Amino acid sequence: MKTSEIATLKTWITESDNIVFFGGAGVSTESGIPDFRSVDGLYHQKFDYPPETILSHSFFYSHTEEFYRFYREKMLPLEAKPNAAHLALAKLEQEGKLKAIVTQNIDGLHQKAGSKCVYELHGSVYRNRCQRCGKQYPPEFIRDFRGIPHCDCGGLIKPEVVLYEEGLDEACIDGAIRAISRADILIVGGTSLTVYPAAGLIRYYGGNKLVLINRDETQYDSYANLIFRDPIGTVLSQVV
Ligand SMILES: [Zn+2]
Repeated sequence: MKTSEIATLKTWITESDNIVFFGGAGVSTESGIPDFRSVDGLYHQKFDYPPETILSHSFFYSHTEEFYRFYREKMLPLEAKPNAAHLALAKLEQEGKLKAIVTQNIDGLHQKAGSKCVYELHGSVYRNRCQRCGKQYPPEFIRDFRGIPHCDCGGLIKPEVVLYEEGLDEACIDGAIRAISRADILIVGGTSLTVYPAAGLIRYYGGNKLVLINRDETQYDSYANLIFRDPIGTVLSQVV
């Protein structure tokens, strides 16, 4: 990591009160949560279907028990702790510098770190709703329930995470677009910007302080004003 680039980012942050952070799976991998889209082979151990199939809308309703077996084992890291990146972003918000976080992660770690304005594009494992009466249930209820989780009313409980074949929440997208289009600094971290809707959303940024923090190259590198290849927590903890 170059000292001059860290100094530049630090100056920008000092001068700004309208920073937006856009984060992908790489933000959570630093908390030990694996990227379920990565090809690490996480999936091939115990399950008869690929994750894209299991985590789909139709599979949820047709193979609910199998869905929940996978979901409990792979998608509910409730003991995970926020890392240096989450903490730095929460601090920037408390200082009035950061206006919003837009995330593709569903693990609730930004809120655990203290962040308030978080647009969760893919939903959250912390919200679970009865499909019949709408009652909300905490993730511990899902984790501890034996078999398929049902409500007191008998209805099926579904996590409010966006499954494959499902659309994103429009209010959430609108909020994210509004924040990104007004930002004077957009920091993008831990995403290769290949998964919908990430690439589309950052096109709404019209400023000249686009910061990319990602281990690998992305198709947006040529648009970036600063690029870091280091861990997000390492970069952000040096500039807050
Ligand atoms: Zn119910």
